[in-house]
Amino acid sequence: MHTADWLTPMLEEGRDRWCTRPFCTTCGGMDFRRVVWSEAARRSGVWLTRTDIRAGINALPPDDTRAVGLELAEALRQVPEQGADREAMHTLLIDLQRVLFARAPLDTLLGDSWAAQLLRDMETHARELVRYRAEVAVRRRDEQAERKQRQAERAARHVQRLRDKQGRDAWLAGVLAELARLPIEQRLERIAVDATVPLGAVAGLLPSGTELERVQLSPQVSGQLIQRIDRRGGAWRRLRRSLK
Ligand SMILES: [Zn+2]
Repeated sequence: MHTADWLTPMLEEGRDRWCTRPFCTTCGGMDFRRVVWSEAARRSGVWLTRTDIRAGINALPPDDTRAVGLELAEALRQVPEQGADREAMHTLLIDLQRVLFARAPLDTLLGDSWAAQLLRDMETHARELVRYRAEVAVRRRDEQAERKQRQAERAARHVQRLRDKQGRDAWLAGVLAELARLPIEQRLERIAVDATVPLGAVAGLLPSGTELERVQLSPQVSGQLIQRIDRRGGAWRRLRRSLK
């Protein structure tokens, strides 16, 4: 047992024959893994019946599972770095890690072989991946917090704009009410001299019909009003005409 380096020629042969990619989503590397594991089982004197190779090995009596795992570990230990297929090695190491999990320390079995180096690289890579993902998660949380902060600021600005508008509406309502209470001459004088009165909002408060004919304004106020009315139409134009 554990003698010949049977795996190296198999890897060389397999290079062009089978897909050896770890976690291949197309074929799962099933053909390659089945051939290798079957050979490891045969050499351990174990008979495999299941087609799902890893499940088949794990379903064996514990001693048989361990024996097949140790056989493959020893074979991997003997594979030289020169010219071997790294992907194939990764695929087998991943399988073996799971088969031997808690049954035997794989890193010890592999000694200082190339397979052991690959296993260490894979474990380092896995740790880096965990760290990288943790960093990404933290960054994502920060970004989310910033986004929430911006949303809150936007909402606050929106509320402020609404308040500003409500303030303007209330102010305008006050101006209109005040103007409506004034006798017509004072109202027109106020419109003529107070630049804050929005002309677009007060057209409904202008005199019309007989009221328009009775309006008496000083020449100065009349002039100012005519200037403010400028080229506005409708009720404004009628008022301007009567002022001239
Ligand atoms: Zn594949």
